[in-house]
Amino acid sequence: MTDIAANLARIQARIAEATARANRPAGAVTLVAVSKTNPAEAVAAALAAGQAVFGENRVQEAAGKFPALRPDWPALRLHIIGGLQTNKVRDAVRLADVIESLDRPKLAIAIAEAMAKEGRRPDLLVQVNTGDEPQKAGVPRAEAEAFLRACREEWDLPVRGLMCIPPAAEDPRPHFLHLADLAARYALPMLSMGMSADFEAAIACGATHVRVGSAIFGARG
Ligand SMILES: *Cc1c(COP(=O)(O)O)cnc(C)c1O
Repeated sequence: MTDIAANLARIQARIAEATARANRPAGAVTLVAVSKTNPAEAVAAALAAGQAVFGENRVQEAAGKFPALRPDWPALRLHIIGGLQTNKVRDAVRLADVIESLDRPKLAIAIAEAMAKEGRRPDLLVQVNTGDEPQKAGVPRAEAEAFLRACREEWDLPVRGLMCIPPAAEDPRPHFLHLADLAARYALPMLSMGMSADFEAAIACGATHVRVGSAIFGARG
């Protein structure tokens, strides 16, 4: 069985080292433990080891695991990090503390409507397809600024940051730096970038949130 507590300690130590190397203050980077495909018992083990922030990429899967844990773990925070269909938005707004995958006008409008109905306003991150990969979610790079302005001005959404998943086969750093520059120009405090393979590079480029799954919970089957 995967030793989740030991893996978490190792990742937290690497995050602390990378944060110090970048001359950034201790605690500047939050670990989002990506628990997708792992059972609620794995999440409970991570909670018991002190981990509070989790990422799930499917709303239905998150709905099956997290509501039951909340009463015992008031510090728990759930980030929805996967592509979101409009018919799942109401559940996502009800469940999540942060939705990281806002990437198109239709979704923005659906989220605004769901927020009004639910009386709940999770923080939102705009996902940018920094590599303009056709198969990948995210607003195209050239449209990101217009979309950010529309989120604020047309739909009054609580957009607090940006998220990206760089192309797998490329040096991720130019993508991370592009995202960091965009966040700075729009005064967005949250920057979710970096996964198991590249979170230290992301921290060097300014990530405030790193999304790490397999290095904590083991390889997904
Ligand atoms: C699965 C996933 C991760 C975590 O990936 P690992 O390589 O397992 O660390 C991060 N971000 C998103 C959007 C994911 O879907």
